[in-house]
Amino acid sequence: MHQADTAAAEYDWPTCTACSRDLRYDELGRMACRLCQRRTDEHLAALAGEHGLYAALHGALAPGRATMDGRVSGSRTAPLPLRLEPLNLSARGGVVTILQTWLIDWHEALGWRHPRWEGDLQQQCDQAVKALRNNLEWAATEHPAFSEFGAEVSALTRACRRQVTGEPPERRIAVLCACGATLRVTISTPGARCSCGAQYGRTEVLELPLALRNAA
Ligand SMILES: [Zn+2]
Ligand SMILES: [Zn+2]
Repeated sequence: MHQADTAAAEYDWPTCTACSRDLRYDELGRMACRLCQRRTDEHLAALAGEHGLYAALHGALAPGRATMDGRVSGSRTAPLPLRLEPLNLSARGGVVTILQTWLIDWHEALGWRHPRWEGDLQQQCDQAVKALRNNLEWAATEHPAFSEFGAEVSALTRACRRQVTGEPPERRIAVLCACGATLRVTISTPGARCSCGAQYGRTEVLELPLALRNAA
C-alpha cells in the first residue's frame, strides 16, 4: 500500500480505479470508492433471488411474451423458437459462469480453497452472488481488478434487464474514419478513436460516412 498521507500534495490525489473520481480521505488506500462498491453491490443483488433478473430471464425466453410493462414484444420481427440473447445469459457460460469465474479468482487471491457449486443454475447464481457480496468490501479495497469486475457485473445486469423489459439493444453502426478504417459505434457513443490516432467527438463521429455493410 502506498502512503497517501505523506506528501500527498506533491502527487496526483489517488483516484477510484472504477470511476476515476478522487478518493475521499477516508477511502485512501482503496482500489474503488464506496459509491462504486455500493453500485456494484446493488447490481449483484438485482441479479439474485427468485424475483431477481436472472430468474426473470426464463420468462424472457419465449418469443412474443408480454414484457413487464404489459406490452407484447416480438411482433415486428420474425419469431424465433427461442430468443437467443436471454438463452446465452441464462445458460452455462452466461451470468452464472461469469460470476463463478470471478469468485474463483477471488478465492485464489485470498488463498482460499476453490469454491464448490451446489444445486441448479439458479441456486448457483444465488450462491455466487452471496459470496461475492460478502467479500465485496475486501475486493473494493484490495482487488486490483475491481473496476473490471464492477464493469462486468454492470454490463451483465444491463443485458439481463434489457431482455426482461424487452428493450432492444442499441444498434451498432459502422462508420468510416478519414483514414479508411471502419469504426463501430452506437448512437449514444460519447466519441471514438481510430487506431490511426484520429479522435472524434460524439457529433463528429455520427457525421462520418457510413461504411458499407460488407466492406470490413
Ligand atoms: Zn468510484
Ligand atoms: Zn483512422
